[in-house]
Amino acid sequence: MDKLYFIPGSQDLYGDDCLKQVAEDCREMVEFLNEKLKDIVAVELLPTVVDSAACIANCRKASNDDECVGVITWMHTFSPAKMWIKGLQELRKPLLHLHTQANEKLPYADIDMDFMNLNQAAHGDREYGFILARMGIAHEVAAGYYKNERVISKIRDFARVARAIAFSRNLRIALFGNNMRDVAVTDGDRVESQIRYGWEANYYAIGDLVKCIDSATDAEIDAQFEAYKSKYTMATDNTEAVREQAKYEVGLKKFIEKKGVGAFIDTFQDLYGLKQLPGIAVQDLMSEGIGFGPEGDYKISALSAVFMKMAEGKEGATGFIEDYTYDLTEGEELELASHMLEVPPAFAATKPEIQVHPLDIGGKEDPARLVFDGVTGEGIQVTLVDMGTHFRLICADIELVKQPEPMPKLPVARIMYRHKPNFEIGTAAWCYAGGAHHSVVSTALTRSDVAMFARLTGTELITIGDDTTEADLQKFFTK
Ligand code: MN
Repeated sequence: MDKLYFIPGSQDLYGDDCLKQVAEDCREMVEFLNEKLKDIVAVELLPTVVDSAACIANCRKASNDDECVGVITWMHTFSPAKMWIKGLQELRKPLLHLHTQANEKLPYADIDMDFMNLNQAAHGDREYGFILARMGIAHEVAAGYYKNERVISKIRDFARVARAIAFSRNLRIALFGNNMRDVAVTDGDRVESQIRYGWEANYYAIGDLVKCIDSATDAEIDAQFEAYKSKYTMATDNTEAVREQAKYEVGLKKFIEKKGVGAFIDTFQDLYGLKQLPGIAVQDLMSEGIGFGPEGDYKISALSAVFMKMAEGKEGATGFIEDYTYDLTEGEELELASHMLEVPPAFAATKPEIQVHPLDIGGKEDPARLVFDGVTGEGIQVTLVDMGTHFRLICADIELVKQPEPMPKLPVARIMYRHKPNFEIGTAAWCYAGGAHHSVVSTALTRSDVAMFARLTGTELITIGDDTTEADLQKFFTK
């Protein structure tokens, strides 16, 4: 199971009794955290840091343990921070600085110097905070009494983000084809994204995938076809077209398993050997947590996989989407977001229908796809762009809404949303920031999850929402 190591800090100046109490309080705290985090990670206590050697040993243990997704540190007493330098230099896991105390209230009637020396996070955590800042170590701070719901909620968010970062560090992306010709924003520096996020984005010949697809047996295709029928409503007589997609999914699954892939891209400009653009095959794979990017967009394939991982266990929908078209009625502006086919079923408000329609682009046979109306609720839209010197995350708060009227002639799944603070500022900010037309939309995650991911991966973040003003457009988006 994924775990977080809990590393307390102190020193030997206060005597053995004090250190015994530190260890005892930490055991109690870790027991409490384990109860509160057990659905996400286990929390394991490491020996109290009292000198540099203990810190190095703890940080090495965390860095070299594949099951460890992150580290929580807390300075129970004062812990001179020079003893943390060499250990922190070897720490390669996301770090949460828990700024808390074993006691909630001050015992005003009984407080003496011993109590104050034992419980001095206000002192020790600032010393420790300095060294993190001085060394430029990416980290998150959670401040408050550790049993407080708000603090626990922040630690839980950290655990989810840390788990997603561990997933990201191990993520392999299969590129079937390259970036769609002439498109800029979906391209990116694959060397830099491997350094920063761990993504191994490697090219595979479409022919190798076709070989895998052609190896699908009738029994395997039947089983996948039956799976579609049990999950979705069959709304077409063209079962051959659906079986063709079932064959693609069987082949893709084999490939994904063989190569240990967690995300993939395709492009309708390179479908040699395939009769259809993969539609329901891709949609169904996304519902199993596999990241996908159309038109060769490797960044969004990876980002969607990482964010789906981050949202695991949370209420709500998370997945890839494309900004498509607007209703520009003044004051009631809405966006219709969709794609040629590949909209994740996570966004379905009703049971998706399997439909077959022509695709007016790419010159292939009519592909089977899932069609549905979208979920509603508060959400975020996130994208990642390559600015040449660095990656930039953009996170906009949105409100997903019910489509105001039926769209019986639109043969693809869709969601609709309202921009914040309004259409004018929200979409202008996105344009100024260089935001892509491919993004991840989530009703499960929030801006603070994205901010945590950005901080812990050292990524620039631009946020857009109710707190964005016309003045911000001038301040933040003008060089
Ligand atoms: Mn697209």
